[in-house]
Amino acid sequence: MRKNLRYLILLLVLLFVAVNEALIKSRSTSWENPLWVRIYAVNGDGRNATEKYIDSLTRNSFAAVEKFVNSEARRHGVLIDAIDVEYNGRLQSGPPELPAEQSVLGNIWWSLRFRAWAAHRAWNSDQDEGDVELFVTYYDIETTHSLRHSVGLEGGLIGIINAFADKSYRGSNQVVIAHELMHTLGASDKYAMDSIPQYPQGYAEPYLKPLYPQRRAEIMGGRIPLSAQQAIMPRSLAEVVVGIQTAAEINWPIDR
Ligand SMILES: [Zn+2]
Repeated sequence: MRKNLRYLILLLVLLFVAVNEALIKSRSTSWENPLWVRIYAVNGDGRNATEKYIDSLTRNSFAAVEKFVNSEARRHGVLIDAIDVEYNGRLQSGPPELPAEQSVLGNIWWSLRFRAWAAHRAWNSDQDEGDVELFVTYYDIETTHSLRHSVGLEGGLIGIINAFADKSYRGSNQVVIAHELMHTLGASDKYAMDSIPQYPQGYAEPYLKPLYPQRRAEIMGGRIPLSAQQAIMPRSLAEVVVGIQTAAEINWPIDR
């Protein structure tokens, strides 16, 4: 009996989450008003170097993300500024860490905890709440050499970005922020297991002749294909575009 009750409660929670997300999703991709994107910084390793780097962050540190999305949105037929990016400063504690091992149940549980954490944080804050909230967790490059993956929750309109606390990574951090932002709006990954972009949807210029080397990356393809087997990370959003399939997924008009 108690077991059934637990299932019922879990089902109701999931139903509530699903209905809520469907509502949010249709509102967030109508492109009638600019979407408010709010960025927060978190010190991921508690180190001084990381703290110092976070001290240096301003709205300007994320302006490239706004510029990129707005100019790509216009190119795809959105008539207004698609997004408005604001930096809301640092948080003393970050979102729940991603499970180290990937499992379906583990991921569902983590995503519910992340949603609960974000809702609780917004509830206790008197800052302007965003439509999309992105939490960028920084790590010192002295002690962190590879980052856990970043996640943007579709429908939840929240994302975690793991980033390097160093100026030399500013451009690539912005690429990851834009990628996860697109996920929150419903865009899907367009690369294979080995990080090689899928053809044609993961290519910036699928009709380029000759096809290789490509000059830019598609935002959800993630990398610039140099050949069918080799692709490199873009250094900044200047080397990235939003392709047609991604644009369609986030409800940009394309050529309707
Ligand atoms: Zn992705």
